[in-house]
Amino acid sequence: MIIQNSIDTIIIGGGLSGLTVAHFLQKYMPEARVTILEKTTSFGGAIRSFHQDGYLAEWGAHGFLDNVEASRELLADTGLDREAQMAPLDEFVRYICLNGKLNLIPQNPKKILKSNIVSLSTKLRVLGDLWKKPHPEEQTVADWAAHRFGAGLLPFVDAVLTGTYAGDHNRLSIDAVFPGIRALELENGSVIKGLIRKRKEAKEKQQTVPKRKLPSMVSFPQGMGRLPEALADGKNLVYSARVKSIRKKGDSWEVKTAEQTYQAGSVVLALTVNQSLSLLLSDAGLSGDKPPLNSIPEARIVTVAMGFGKSAEIPFGFGYLAPEQEKRFALGALFSTHMFPGRAPQGHMLLEALVGGRRHPEKLELDDDTLIQKAYADIKELIHLPDPPVFTRVLRSEHGIPQLEIGYPKLLAWRNNLVEKNPGLHVCGFGWGGIGINDMTKAAKQVAAAIAAGKAAKGETEVKGVYF
Ligand SMILES: Cc1cc2nc3c(=O)[nH]c(=O)nc-3n(C[C@H](O)[C@H](O)[C@H](O)COP(=O)(O)OP(=O)(O)OC[C@H]3O[C@@H](n4cnc5c(N)ncnc54)[C@H](O)[C@@H]3O)c2cc1C
Repeated sequence: MIIQNSIDTIIIGGGLSGLTVAHFLQKYMPEARVTILEKTTSFGGAIRSFHQDGYLAEWGAHGFLDNVEASRELLADTGLDREAQMAPLDEFVRYICLNGKLNLIPQNPKKILKSNIVSLSTKLRVLGDLWKKPHPEEQTVADWAAHRFGAGLLPFVDAVLTGTYAGDHNRLSIDAVFPGIRALELENGSVIKGLIRKRKEAKEKQQTVPKRKLPSMVSFPQGMGRLPEALADGKNLVYSARVKSIRKKGDSWEVKTAEQTYQAGSVVLALTVNQSLSLLLSDAGLSGDKPPLNSIPEARIVTVAMGFGKSAEIPFGFGYLAPEQEKRFALGALFSTHMFPGRAPQGHMLLEALVGGRRHPEKLELDDDTLIQKAYADIKELIHLPDPPVFTRVLRSEHGIPQLEIGYPKLLAWRNNLVEKNPGLHVCGFGWGGIGINDMTKAAKQVAAAIAAGKAAKGETEVKGVYF
């Protein structure tokens, strides 16, 4: 067993989070010796693009919004801002499937309320938020939204959480999924009152509040795989290095793979919640209590990529989402070539249907031919697709999406307490405080800044925009 101890920081996991921590560490502490241990033979984790016959699809993430500072900084630092393809939310529409039909949906809750897609009674009930007393105990997103805004909005809430978590709004926790909005409600007695107060405060601070532009969805001509590729450049990555255990040893950390034992002043777990819990629950010699949960559920999806010729009348926009009440086969579909042109050969279009999710793991068991046939039949009822697809491919990602369900906030508080009590230990990654790319880059940047400052990272609760 060889011991490597000339390392300042060991990062476990070569996905977006691990690569981002390494990027910012390089920026803040150019002399620091940083090693990333990755169990597979490649970087990028859940982010991976698929290229075949002129088509470009995604196993995982399709893009991220350009409204988070840490992600914008990554783009600027790596020069990816010059390559990026942008799909502005202002120009692109999205659709929601209601009563078996696609309905154009505005991009944020305020605009939805102004549109005809919501009945007058539902609009009036939304104002109930002004006098409904907050329930302080943790609730599901569905219960919370029904209490504050009325049940009429639930199909929209369902669609948003299907689009982000592939999740179930009857299980996801409002306190975990939208902590900023929840804090606004609890502090002000109402979300609307809280938003008005925030706007007033911003106005007072800046005199004039600039008119907010909606953000853009970002990807790259080679697909999202380009992001980890650029970040991995120049990093010290060790592949096929599955970490089996971590252990606190005096002031340093011992990290073991099958082949090597590493020692470093700080260790970063840049893993999914469940992967980090399994390392933290092994005999790591940590100070602190046991976690309130040993694991959390994950939702897996398959992508059915379908290429169509000119006869397909795919409406312009990002794609559509179908709430559970519609009982459709697909959770929704992305109109990939509208969003990011160049993802299909000349004269062709790519549509990526998403199937499975938290509520329908049984659909993941279907064979490829059945998935293609059922997804095509389903979407054909919504979109004019007179000819069958000329290209098909089923992409089965092995990466599940962590579900931040009831009980999760206690686990997050436990994590915060753990890193506070164990100097040199840092825990970020897929599912810790969020699941999107922007959540990951923000948390990873905070971890790098904390390592540079020699303390534990502190997350903050912010009110995020809700977009379809
Ligand atoms: C199907 C799907 C669709 C998504 N769509 C979007 C989207 O459109 N927009 C968006 O913003 N986000 C999306 N996401 C989320 C986004 O992909 C994640 O936020 C991000 O990729 C998480 O990166 P990570 O590095 O934290 O975790 P991961 O990508 O899971 O990386 C963890 C890495 O650690 C490695 N590892 C695990 N255990 C060990 C070990 N013991 N030792 C060493 N290495 C180990 C793994 O191999 C992996 O490379 C999607 C995710 C999925 C799964």
